[in-house]
Amino acid sequence: MNLFILKLLNDQNPRQIAARVLSQRQTSSEFTENLLDIALATARLSPVDRGLCHELVCGVVRWQATLDRLIARKTDPAREPRPALKNLLRLGLYQIFWLDRIPPHAAVHETVEQAKRSGYSSQAGFINAVLRGYLREADEIRKILADMKTSQPALGWSHPEWLVEKWRRQFGDEKTRQLLEWNNTPPKTYARVNTLKTDAARLVERWREENVEYDFVTRDWTGENLAFELKSHPPLTSLGSFRDGGFYLQDPSTLLAPVLLAPLAGEDLLDACAAPGGKTTFIAQLVNNEGRISACDLDPRRLKLVNENCVRLGVTCVATAQTPPLQTENSKFDRILLDAPCSNTGVMRRRVDLRWRIQAAEIERLRVTQLELLRQAAPKLKAGGVIVYSTCSLESEENSEVVKAFLAAHPDFELETERQLLPFVDGVDGAFVARLQRK
Ligand code: SAM
Repeated sequence: MNLFILKLLNDQNPRQIAARVLSQRQTSSEFTENLLDIALATARLSPVDRGLCHELVCGVVRWQATLDRLIARKTDPAREPRPALKNLLRLGLYQIFWLDRIPPHAAVHETVEQAKRSGYSSQAGFINAVLRGYLREADEIRKILADMKTSQPALGWSHPEWLVEKWRRQFGDEKTRQLLEWNNTPPKTYARVNTLKTDAARLVERWREENVEYDFVTRDWTGENLAFELKSHPPLTSLGSFRDGGFYLQDPSTLLAPVLLAPLAGEDLLDACAAPGGKTTFIAQLVNNEGRISACDLDPRRLKLVNENCVRLGVTCVATAQTPPLQTENSKFDRILLDAPCSNTGVMRRRVDLRWRIQAAEIERLRVTQLELLRQAAPKLKAGGVIVYSTCSLESEENSEVVKAFLAAHPDFELETERQLLPFVDGVDGAFVARLQRK
């Protein structure tokens, strides 16, 4: 077939695009979500097929360990299928055992056809045999998959063994199970109304005109009329309410740190790890653009996003700087937010690769960095000032233990409050926030 026509057909086939993204992820350091966004940006797919492609990629990455266990049951351990074939088997099995809306025979047929289209005609028989074998014993496999969730939770819920063991020690069996289930559930989309540009009543009126379906979200730290769940919406960039800065997408958990920072109009504020600016722009909203916010980040590419978000949201009180800010900045601040780089284990359902990238040693390395950042922030604070330390980690090593170590070395600080948000308790992403005051 003409190469151009083949490319055109591939651009219109959600399974083909999913297989391509899954192959790319094996050689790229980019996050899968970014690879998927890039692939979907140029794809010619209907909204339904776009959703299917998204579901296939994210589902296969999330359930990779369980899928690979199924593949290993039917293949010769000495002859591991080559990566592209393995991805096709994963896609086929995921459609058979995880998706309700695709008839299993159609899933097998589509996967075999896809193998042929991808240049694996001679292996199409092998793929057909493996998947048809699974169709014949589908009921038994469903039972095995269900049992595995209790007998071997790491495999049954497709997470690394060491992390599941760590969480079992920290949270106990039942809460760990709830966390594993949460991590395998597609994340919801949340928005924060930007009161620098609009208010909740005007925003929802606009959303109704734009076919955005929403729900109000209330937590003890958000109050009412601040956070919303977007249940369905046309592409964001097509929405005037988005382009005009009426809202910012962020999980309600991310609102807690700025709320506990409790910034006041006219103050000097430092957001030491600010990019992409979700908390910076909310702090600007809390002070109604009255004050001076220094928003710093080490990563210039991400810092650009802070500037872009400030422009879209009408934030005028922020100055960005790409420095190791805590080492070079001389002025003193009334309040400092240190939203530290962390393992991100509280947002695992949003970052499908994360569970396969994270290493136990990384948590220790991060702990050292976090403590160092806090140590550097301390002298930048005015007497009586407040530092809020936050992460989106669930690991006590990066949270309460960092705060404890900091306080032990800084008797001029006291802990006013600390709070760990947990997905299985609070129904939002995981987050840790501690508020420290300089005496
Ligand atoms: N506060 C941001 C928000 O709400 O949108 C999220 C910040 S993210 C958790 C952590 C940020 O810290 C990353 O953007 C990373 O580039 C930055 N970072 C890492 N090491 C840093 C350092 N030594 N100094 C400043 N920023 C750093």
